[in-house]
Amino acid sequence: MLNVNDFKKISQSLSNRSVSLVAVSKTKPIIDIKILYDEGQRIFGENRVQELVLKYQELPKDIQWHLIGHLQSNKVKFIAPFISLIHSVDSLSLLKEIERQAQKNNRVIDCLLQFHIASEETKYGLDFSEAEELLKSKEYADMKYVRIVGVMGMASFSEDEALVRSEFKNLKNIFLELKNNFFSQEDSFCNISMGMSGDYETAIEEGSNMVRIGSLLFGER
Ligand SMILES: *Cc1c(COP(=O)(O)O)cnc(C)c1O
Repeated sequence: MLNVNDFKKISQSLSNRSVSLVAVSKTKPIIDIKILYDEGQRIFGENRVQELVLKYQELPKDIQWHLIGHLQSNKVKFIAPFISLIHSVDSLSLLKEIERQAQKNNRVIDCLLQFHIASEETKYGLDFSEAEELLKSKEYADMKYVRIVGVMGMASFSEDEALVRSEFKNLKNIFLELKNNFFSQEDSFCNISMGMSGDYETAIEEGSNMVRIGSLLFGER
C-alpha cells in the first residue's frame, strides 16, 4: 500500500542530500501517482512503454517521466514526444533510434548509459569498453538530438552488502572515467542513477545522486 508518511520522510531526507528521487510507479494505479503528485513529487519512473504512455495521457503534464526499463528501438517513437530521461541506453543502435525520433519531435532527449554492474547474468547494460566504443563512434559524434547526462546501473539482488557496495563503487568509477575522458566540458553529464528500495542508502554512500524507489513508497508489487 501507498504510504504517504514514508514518502514524505524519504523525499525530505533525499532532498536534504541533493539526491533526486525517481518514484517508480510501475504496475501502480494512477490514483496513487496522483497522491504523490499532490504531495509535490514530480519525477516518476516506469519500465514499460505502453503503461508509461497511458499514465502520461491521464496525469498532469508537468510530471517528468523517466523510462527506467529495457527499451526496444521500435517503441522509442511512442515516448519521444514527452519523455524527460531515458535511463536504459545500452546500445548504439538504440541511441540512433532515439536521435531519429527526437529530431522528428524537434527536441533533445536526455539519456543515461546503462551499465551492467551486477554479478547476475540477466541484467541489461553496457560494459566499459562497449561504452567507450559508442562514445568514440562517428555516429555518436554526429548526433544533435540526444544528450548523455550520466550513467545508470542495478546492483545484484543480494543480501551481501559488500558485494552490492562494490558494484556501486564500480559504477561511480565508470562515471568518473567517462566524465574525464568524454564529458569534462559538459556540466550536464552529472547524474549517477543507482539505488532502489533495498539498497539506496548504500548507493548514496557510494556516490549516487539519483535513486529509483518503488516498493518502499507504493508498497510491494
Ligand atoms: C522496479 C525498478 C526499480 C524500483 O524497484 P524497488 O525495489 O521497488 O524500489 C528501480 N529500478 C529499476 C530499473 C526497476 O525496474
